[in-house]
Amino acid sequence: MAPVMDSVASFISREHQLFIGGEFVPSKGTSRLDVYNPADDTVLTTAAAAGAEDIDAAVAAARAALPEWRALPAARRAELLWNRGTRITELADEFAQIDTLNNGKTTADAMAVDIPLVTGLLKYYAGWATKLEGRTITPMGGSNFHVYTRREPIGVVGAIIPWNFPLLMCGYKLGPALATGNTIVLKPAEQTPLSALRLAEIIREVGFPDGVINIVTGDGPGAGAPLAAHHGVDKITFTGETTTGQKIIDAAKGNMKKMSLELGGKSPSLVFADADLDAAVEGTFGAVYFNQGQCCIAGARVFVHDDIYDEFTQRLVDRVSQIRLGPGLDPDSTMGPLVSREQQTRVRGFIDSGVEQGATIVSDAQSPVPEQGYFVRPTVFTGATADMRIMREEIFGPVAVVGKFSDEEQAIAAANDTAFGLCSGVWTRDSARVHRVAAGIEAGTVYVNTYGMFDPAVPYGGFKMSGFGKELGEESLDSYLQTKTVWVNLD
Ligand code: ADP
Repeated sequence: MAPVMDSVASFISREHQLFIGGEFVPSKGTSRLDVYNPADDTVLTTAAAAGAEDIDAAVAAARAALPEWRALPAARRAELLWNRGTRITELADEFAQIDTLNNGKTTADAMAVDIPLVTGLLKYYAGWATKLEGRTITPMGGSNFHVYTRREPIGVVGAIIPWNFPLLMCGYKLGPALATGNTIVLKPAEQTPLSALRLAEIIREVGFPDGVINIVTGDGPGAGAPLAAHHGVDKITFTGETTTGQKIIDAAKGNMKKMSLELGGKSPSLVFADADLDAAVEGTFGAVYFNQGQCCIAGARVFVHDDIYDEFTQRLVDRVSQIRLGPGLDPDSTMGPLVSREQQTRVRGFIDSGVEQGATIVSDAQSPVPEQGYFVRPTVFTGATADMRIMREEIFGPVAVVGKFSDEEQAIAAANDTAFGLCSGVWTRDSARVHRVAAGIEAGTVYVNTYGMFDPAVPYGGFKMSGFGKELGEESLDSYLQTKTVWVNLD
């Protein structure tokens, strides 16, 4: 097991407060959040549980900072964002350990995925800060007007993020919000506040003006709900469960907040008979089990052509049996624990429901599961029908459901038989089929002969109940900007 770095141990043992107006300040209330290590079920530390008064203070700080932030040369905004990305890279080992200790993910995954993506996207959006332009338009009804558009920041952004990628999700929100000249109040998930708090220390160090970024730790009802409802917040950006997204829509309507919602999924992978089977097994495996299955994009419904169904399923089961469960700090672990006791109970409940409703577990039941910590045995189901809970609901755990199809039409119908529409995977060597299926699938992303690719320059976001408003890429900027039209009479 890798030892905990001194700098990480010293950070974790600090008295954690709220980051408001460039200062660490105590919460107005006295309640605290217990912050757990999911690998051994111990309390690592506590964090402040913000309430409505703290949210008021954070929103006021963000509003007060807006004029200075908007007036700052775009090149300076870019520099600050870029420098923060660089600083995270310098502290990569520290951030990776913090997320491992607090979220459970393996340090290898944090180093391979979370850290490069968060630094990459801060730098990508640093580039956009200097490239935001409006248009000049010649009105079709006459040319004695000079008409142009300005793309302006929306104002104060409220960001509410989940626990599955604690540091990375901060970057998803901070990058585009700040590049476009907004200020922000960010609430991490109550389970995983630590990397966001370490980030707050860097924000000070790098020199962001006070109040541009405020980080308030707290739970959903106590801190998230007042942030979503606050009339001083102009836009809300949320990543989390669809049912929470619906509550946020209700809370946000009071002052017509702009919104982008990145919600749940139940994504399909379609494996055709002509697929490269080695690649399909490995890709489908990663699609389901990466990050302990705690990904909105998890490709948890796998549909396989009849001709290769038996072979594919056996190979997937073999691959799953190679998983080594253990603490994320242990380099021999290939899968860590789930984030919380609650999540462990929930996922086990889904597995029980699958069995009760008549599906069959075909994965190895003998592999050891550590007793301490929130581990769940990676599971493969077959024989599930379309109405079962394991087919319809987002499990957010290491559970695959493998079904069959006999032709392309049936495959597309199975893929689309869900209320969600986040991602999908297609495994085939037939290039014409690729394009037919990509057009037929109702989802924001179609991965072809790959799965789970993310890049700061490539937009990502859901259809149907998976939300609206794209993240990443140039598209994300649109949801943080509003277009103002200026008509100038030339007479
Ligand atoms: P999970 O149940 O998996 O934790 P959630 O969607 O509930 O997923 O949580 C994602 C984020 O939403 C967290 O930061 C959480 O605190 C926040 N949250 C939960 N409930 C609410 C709510 N009613 N209003 C605003 N934010 C909320």
